[in-house]
Amino acid sequence: MKFDVIIVGAGAAGASAALELTKDDLSVLVIEKLSLPREKPCAGAMSRSVEKLLGLDLSKVIKNRAKFIKFYNNYQEELIIETSGLRAPILVNRSEFDLYLLNKARTGKGEIVIYDQSALSLLRESNDKVMVKTKHGQIYESSYLIAADGAISKVATFAGLMKNRKFAQAVEVEIYTSESFYKKHEKAMTMNFFCVPEGYGWIFPKEKGHFSCGIGTWGKHIDLKPYLNNFLHKFFKKNCIKDTRLSRHPIPVYQANHPIATNRILLTGDAAALTSPVTGEGIRFALQSGKIAASIIRHTIKNQKKLPENFVSEEYQRAVKDTIEKELNFYLTFASLAFHGNPNLFYKTFIKS
Ligand SMILES: Cc1cc2nc3c(=O)[nH]c(=O)nc-3n(C[C@H](O)[C@H](O)[C@H](O)COP(=O)(O)OP(=O)(O)OC[C@H]3O[C@@H](n4cnc5c(N)ncnc54)[C@H](O)[C@@H]3O)c2cc1C
Repeated sequence: MKFDVIIVGAGAAGASAALELTKDDLSVLVIEKLSLPREKPCAGAMSRSVEKLLGLDLSKVIKNRAKFIKFYNNYQEELIIETSGLRAPILVNRSEFDLYLLNKARTGKGEIVIYDQSALSLLRESNDKVMVKTKHGQIYESSYLIAADGAISKVATFAGLMKNRKFAQAVEVEIYTSESFYKKHEKAMTMNFFCVPEGYGWIFPKEKGHFSCGIGTWGKHIDLKPYLNNFLHKFFKKNCIKDTRLSRHPIPVYQANHPIATNRILLTGDAAALTSPVTGEGIRFALQSGKIAASIIRHTIKNQKKLPENFVSEEYQRAVKDTIEKELNFYLTFASLAFHGNPNLFYKTFIKS
């Protein structure tokens, strides 16, 4: 079966790309490895600006709007910042949020086919098309492919991109407390920098007794468990916790100046390691890169003029460089100057910025 575009992965990047592509009458196939709605371990915090980016009112899927962020420097120097405007954080449940975007894409002009439980197992790119095979043996073709298959992108491996991927590590815990405990803390997100070497811990109030918590580090060979226990112990009283679920995850580390596209394959979101080198934030960049990739493909297909073979790839990489990478490069310099070498300087500068 032939489509205009195949999207691999139905996370934030994939859903955002689908939303953009179906603005036109294009045929789009989304293949997703897991069963939808799929679980995505993620704290689900992003700035309100994503509503503007997506052109959507997200109030149906926003679980909480934090009014304050409490910052700490290794449990010291508490600083409470009131948030407002486009940078104010919203909190979502990722499985619900990502599916909401995908369902919005179904209402567009284009034809969209979504197959879950359909992991990509093989990929071939030729001069005029891309061919994919799923683990069930189905074969599909398209003019372009958007890789939105996350941190350990199989597409990137097949395409010969992102060969030197590096990962930071994080452990996430979903904590369910009494509603009365939650009520006391629902308005403030907590970020405790350096409560673990070269990293931070977070406690984000999600909804009715539910907190998303975790700890992550860019440091190597660090056993996160004792740091996590200490961090949680200081915030939660033992008898207020009803249930916990713990999982471990790699966070792709952003590296500047890496090719993220071939002539017909564009890597987006975590597949392209578009994450903040300071906080690991990645949802916004996944949404943005998915949208940019889709928009360039959409206009190229509609435009029907004979363009150079590498037009889409060059346009995409230039657009990502001018927007997302500009921001990430700033954080990268900041992180390498202060985060890894001078935590106190980092803390003072970060919270001022
Ligand atoms: C513990 C943790 C907490 C985080 N908290 C935050 C936060 O609060 N705010 C923030 O901005 N960022 C956060 N991030 C980062 C954020 O989760 C990612 O940057 C974001 O999910 C990237 O979106 P994506 O669409 O690129 O990838 P994903 O959301 O990972 O989606 C990839 C999709 O591809 C599918 N897939 C994988 N392989 C295949 C295959 N072979 N075939 C088909 N489908 C496939 C997967 O099943 C998945 O559905 C956090 C990350 C972690 C690990």
